[in-house]
Amino acid sequence: SAARSLASCIFCKIIKGEIPSYKLIESELSFSFLDIGPLSKGHALIIPKDHAEKLHELPDEYLTDILPIAKKIAVAQGIENYNVLQNNGKIAHQEVPHVHFHVIPKPSASDEQG
Ligand code: 5GP
Ligand code: ZN
Repeated sequence: SAARSLASCIFCKIIKGEIPSYKLIESELSFSFLDIGPLSKGHALIIPKDHAEKLHELPDEYLTDILPIAKKIAVAQGIENYNVLQNNGKIAHQEVPHVHFHVIPKPSASDEQG
């Protein structure tokens, strides 16, 4: 089915390939890619393919798709320590108004030393 897209939205453009990204996993309902400003190595974003600004505006079926992808990313990266984060609204630090889940690896001190 054709994705519902917002022309002015940068994450909709990433889904359409109009803005390049480092793709990780794509499913029927969602798309994941590396964050352009990573808080740690491997910082990933998972987004629904249909445009919705905030979590409460997103139909449940997308959430059923997205959390297993967060698990897959953690398994593929072999990480045991990480944060899954999802911001809604400017005051809550949402910069991009298209629902996204962050998967942020939390390296140990020894990892950081390389
Ligand atoms: P927020 O603060 O909205 O929860 O997070 C938005 C995230 O999107 C930030 O971590 C930022 O680095 C990332 N981001 C913004 N624009 C782009 C982009 O064009 N490409 C990629 N890969 N990430 C982006
Ligand atoms: Zn969008």
